[in-house]
Amino acid sequence: MVIEPAVRHPGATAALLAELGPQKVFTEHAVRLAHAHDNTRIAFLPEAVVKPADEADLAYLLRLANERDVPVYVRGAGTGTTGASAPLRGGWVVSLTHWDKIEIDADAGMARVQPGAITGKINEEAAKHGLFFPPDPSSVKHCTIGGNIATNAGGLRAAKYGVTRDYVYALEGLLPTGEPVKWAGPVRKYVSGYNLRDLWIGSEGTLGVITSAVIKLVPLPKSRRTFQCAFRTDEDALRACVALLRTRVVTSVCEFLDTQTVACAEHRAGKPVFSRDELGPDGPATPAVMLLELDGHPAQIAEESRTLREWAGEHALVLRETDDAAEAEKLWHLRRTCSQAMFMHGNAKLNEDIVVPLRSYLPLLRLTREVKEATGLATPTFGHAADGNFHVHIMYNREDPDQCRKAEAGILMLMKAVVDMGGAITGEHGVGLAKSPFLAIQHSPAEIGAMLAIKRALDPRDILGRGQIFEVTNIWEHTPIKVTMPWDKH
Ligand SMILES: Cc1cc2nc3c(=O)[nH]c(=O)nc-3n(C[C@H](O)[C@H](O)[C@H](O)COP(=O)(O)OP(=O)(O)OC[C@H]3O[C@@H](n4cnc5c(N)ncnc54)[C@H](O)[C@@H]3O)c2cc1C
Repeated sequence: MVIEPAVRHPGATAALLAELGPQKVFTEHAVRLAHAHDNTRIAFLPEAVVKPADEADLAYLLRLANERDVPVYVRGAGTGTTGASAPLRGGWVVSLTHWDKIEIDADAGMARVQPGAITGKINEEAAKHGLFFPPDPSSVKHCTIGGNIATNAGGLRAAKYGVTRDYVYALEGLLPTGEPVKWAGPVRKYVSGYNLRDLWIGSEGTLGVITSAVIKLVPLPKSRRTFQCAFRTDEDALRACVALLRTRVVTSVCEFLDTQTVACAEHRAGKPVFSRDELGPDGPATPAVMLLELDGHPAQIAEESRTLREWAGEHALVLRETDDAAEAEKLWHLRRTCSQAMFMHGNAKLNEDIVVPLRSYLPLLRLTREVKEATGLATPTFGHAADGNFHVHIMYNREDPDQCRKAEAGILMLMKAVVDMGGAITGEHGVGLAKSPFLAIQHSPAEIGAMLAIKRALDPRDILGRGQIFEVTNIWEHTPIKVTMPWDKH
């Protein structure tokens, strides 16, 4: 169902159209609908979509929005999974996907990029110079660097390489009131004044519009080796993960897939991932799985591979490995397909990207089972095991009110326990709308008050991302629209 805005601003939209023209301001229903939602598919219809030609257009739009009290929502590729770019209160969506210049400064190990540059494309350009941008959300072929910075996106390689924040030298953009600002510059060290660059990173489009960024590039690893291991139980796999960290081998990928997740993927493929011969006669019907990758100099990989084999000999039932790219892709297949496979348990999924400390891995596993028992709903879980960022899914049928209620109760149970463990309600996707009901579980009134004081100081009319993060929105009360998005094919 598409949600229409409660308050409209026809006069302001007409003024914007008159100033910028119909090549930049779109009021057709189809364009507005395409910009009404992100990957959550919960659609809030904006009054107009604006594709500014330059900073002057953008500054005009923001000044007008402040004068006429029009909410503005900045949008990258719309791959977000929390509704953070959705125009909750209508108003205008600013789309910057056409601002996509990429300039590589190979000697400096930097790139100056516009916010609409696709992250995968930045890596293609950087690779021509033997460099890469390590943060790698699975949406890398579609998402923009502006969206990555605004959500401080993480990804599969975060345990070794860190997250987006670790790769941003400088940002340029506009304050919500329309004034241009520069936070830092194309230099490796910068400690002048308050660090508002880092305040913008992860602020989900609520504190400013990013129009340019200087990001850090690092040398491409010379080689790579991929490993896939099977474990008798989920507990064995998670204990093995802790043991792996103790070996001090830092893998670039360390993905855990629990037995529920592997069972979904096996059901979808119609065949087991590991043969009975491999698992042994006493082996489990469905194993837990870890996918690991080493990258670096071949000599270093050879040495670390020896350590990994010893580790697997102690902890795993099966170890597969390859340094052939096509063979590696076969080992990756399970991880790439498991998310879609979960829909065998229901037509709707609550996908939580919680993060817990290392000591809480086994309690988290127990918790996912308690949620499963308490709700009767499947809770397949996979995630980035080296940094504690697990994706816990609760699968349910949207048409079944009882299941909806149980899924909601299950998520609440999960969030409270995760915070009690010293973890966080989100490790990489951000708050947006989807996590807003849990913000008060994570943060004290003083913490939320401090955040709101910053918001008021930079955005006194509450123009950017109105209603996002701080107002409680139960998105599961809304029905997502049926639409195929480009990344659905993968
Ligand atoms: C298949 C799939 C896999 C994913 N895997 C991961 C993953 O591994 N790790 C991860 O972290 N995320 C992942 N995500 C979530 C998503 O891709 C990231 O949050 C990504 O950073 C969003 O980028 P985007 O360009 O699509 O931004 P959008 O979804 O359009 O917007 C996201 C936020 O950024 C803000 N924003 C966008 N551009 C600007 C700008 N120029 N100035 C200010 N604010 C701006 C928006 O207002 C919004 O708050 C995945 C999503 C999908 C669909």
